[in-house]
Amino acid sequence: MKSKGLLYKGKAKSVYTTDVKGKLIVEFRDDITAFDGGKKDVLENKGNYNAGVSAFFFKFLEKNGIKTHFFSMLDPQHMVVRELEMIPLEVIVRNVAAGSLVRNYPFSEGTPLDPPLIVIDYKDDSRHDPMLNDDIIVALKLLNPTELKKVKKVALEINRLLSGLLAAQGITLVDFKIEFGRQGKKIYLGDEISMDSMRLWDKKTGESLDKDVYRFEKGDVMAIYNKVAQRITTPAKKR
Ligand code: 5GP
Repeated sequence: MKSKGLLYKGKAKSVYTTDVKGKLIVEFRDDITAFDGGKKDVLENKGNYNAGVSAFFFKFLEKNGIKTHFFSMLDPQHMVVRELEMIPLEVIVRNVAAGSLVRNYPFSEGTPLDPPLIVIDYKDDSRHDPMLNDDIIVALKLLNPTELKKVKKVALEINRLLSGLLAAQGITLVDFKIEFGRQGKKIYLGDEISMDSMRLWDKKTGESLDKDVYRFEKGDVMAIYNKVAQRITTPAKKR
């Protein structure tokens, strides 16, 4: 497969058309950003770590009945995916109160959320990704009511699957953000699931193992991404 033109360049990934109909190549770049792009850096190997973890999760989710855009890895930084028309929604599942939930609402950080919360934001940096509700999502025709119900059900199933997988590695899945896209009438999980889009806490020490290390300068980001990528993708052993 050959990469053709650049289709889209996001903050940390670039998407290329290919010579194969219906397939795209996603390049996981070494760029890292936070606060709507207000803080940015280039960190060597970051793309590889996120691509590796994303591929691992997509394969695991596919095995467990979730439809994802993942086909294969071309090399450690390039993923072959199904071409989707992306839906500009950020579907966030929260198991523990943290981040914007604590900043914007009277939750104390670390409070378990049972059942998990689903929050859906409108993906638009210029509007600072405002939170939507079901009525706004349907009125904007981003999803119809049946699709919205299905997306929420799939998001909770992904949460159940990933929480279990990570718990076996001694990691709490605090929250994560996923995005969906359409091919015809079908909706697939797209984008990535990586340390950039999840909040992960070490079960024993409470240490952050995700982009919060970069956002809040909590330590050596790449050393932590390297360690956590290995920990996630290595078969679980007793801890
Ligand atoms: P919060 O709303 O607390 O900032 O984020 C909740 C979860 O969704 C975190 O795991 C965070 O990394 C992820 N998230 C929220 N917005 C974005 C975004 O625009 N890009 C990425 N990559 N992740 C996001």
